[in-house]
Amino acid sequence: MQPPYKRTGFKKIICMVIFFLVLGAGCTIPFYFESPSILYKFGMAKRLLRAGKIFGILAGILLVFQPIFIARFSFIDRIFPQDRRCRFHKHTAIVLTGAAILHPMFVLWAENFSFFPMEIRYWPEFLGIGLLSLVCVMTSISVFRGAVHLRWNKWFLAHRILAPLILILFFIHVLNVSKSFESGLPNHILLLTVFFTTCCFIIKWLFSTAFFKKPFRVISVTPAAKDAWAVNVKPLSGKVFPYIPGQFAYITPVGNRMAREEHPFTIASSCFTTDHLQFVIRSCGEFTDKIEYLKPDDILLIDGPYGQFSHVLVKEKLPVIMIAGGIGITPMLSMLRFMAHSQDPRKVVLIWSNRTRDHIILAEKLSGLTRKMKHLVIHHVITRDSFGQVSCERIDEQSLGLMLYGFDRQAAVFLCGPPAMVAVVKKLLKVLGFSGSRVYTESFLL
Ligand SMILES: Cc1cc2nc3c(=O)[nH]c(=O)nc-3n(C[C@H](O)[C@H](O)[C@H](O)COP(=O)(O)OP(=O)(O)OC[C@H]3O[C@@H](n4cnc5c(N)ncnc54)[C@H](O)[C@@H]3O)c2cc1C
Repeated sequence: MQPPYKRTGFKKIICMVIFFLVLGAGCTIPFYFESPSILYKFGMAKRLLRAGKIFGILAGILLVFQPIFIARFSFIDRIFPQDRRCRFHKHTAIVLTGAAILHPMFVLWAENFSFFPMEIRYWPEFLGIGLLSLVCVMTSISVFRGAVHLRWNKWFLAHRILAPLILILFFIHVLNVSKSFESGLPNHILLLTVFFTTCCFIIKWLFSTAFFKKPFRVISVTPAAKDAWAVNVKPLSGKVFPYIPGQFAYITPVGNRMAREEHPFTIASSCFTTDHLQFVIRSCGEFTDKIEYLKPDDILLIDGPYGQFSHVLVKEKLPVIMIAGGIGITPMLSMLRFMAHSQDPRKVVLIWSNRTRDHIILAEKLSGLTRKMKHLVIHHVITRDSFGQVSCERIDEQSLGLMLYGFDRQAAVFLCGPPAMVAVVKKLLKVLGFSGSRVYTESFLL
């Protein structure tokens, strides 16, 4: 079953224009709504103070936009897919941290680095220092999470607590630190933003409660390959929600067999199957290692669908190339099942890299698909031999060139796998003459 997915190019442009207009408008505040601290400064000191305020406003606007960047509302997801928003969220968080650091530096520079005396009336400034420290801690932990081996879910919990706290402190700081925001238009806009952000948080919190997630019952958990499991689930409501091939959903197990954590997994089944969903999950950490312990009749709460990694969203009926690394096959599986069911006449090449032959997921299902789809060609790349040693098979320029020999350079390419592989293959495709704008990637690391 497919939801009516519309193209969203125009909405994307509108959103980008609004975002940059808000940033631009914010920068004009220290010019049009001068606070007395700017009014009574002249020359270089005035310019430095203005620059400091602009950095502060930029950091503040980016901060207020952060919850929107990662909000899990399907109407936003249809315009900007979640993985791209998550990446944008990470990059803008680094930019906002930089702007937040520059803000007090420029303000102090305008004062010739004479620090505020330790007086109670300067509490908004001291609150600002605390706020800046929190922002720096949060960004550093997020950037270096992998390096310090912090588990995703622990980091996420800390992020969930710190984010609203930072926003509350920010609003208190701005409303009290600058006369520009004490009255008039900037004050009204700020109060409106407080109201809007609070509503966003309440709605987001409501949606993250079990009430808004769809309950599914586990039908079976069967081995799909080495360290991988196929989990079939049935909706308690009787009917699966509409989705398109390649989309993913968040799964939260209920009960004490697994931690009640929310993790994203691609829906590997065909969306023509309306009575159940299939997820194929590879164990690779604390949560996924326990998937095999799920039992029939266990309940999973499912939130979805999300994502836009799908051949049905590609404008023209172009030939399709799918390149997957390991478990990155799941969106391709969903797309291939859909294509086989809808008797899609397009030429399809699937290049699938696995460590060993034992890692090939649902091998018999895939050969079933090749029997149904006469125009489907599958190339397996096995990077290790049966002893686990690195073998000479790799996706490099020569092998990729051979596998795609004579294939239409205008083809739509779907690429999903470990980040290092995705980066290399993207470069190789460019060298081989494939158009970068037609290479669609999905990252399993948000
Ligand atoms: C869009 C998408 C689709 C995915 N589809 C599949 C699939 O079909 N099959 C499959 O086996 N895996 C899939 N994954 C990956 C799967 O979500 C992670 O492997 C799993 O969450 C790891 O959790 P863990 O506790 O076992 O391992 P950990 O060691 O805790 O995590 C390993 C990495 O997975 C990511 N991760 C962990 N928890 C979360 C979370 N709650 N939300 C987002 N990212 C997290 C982090 O980048 C982390 O560094 C998908 C991921 C994404 C983002």
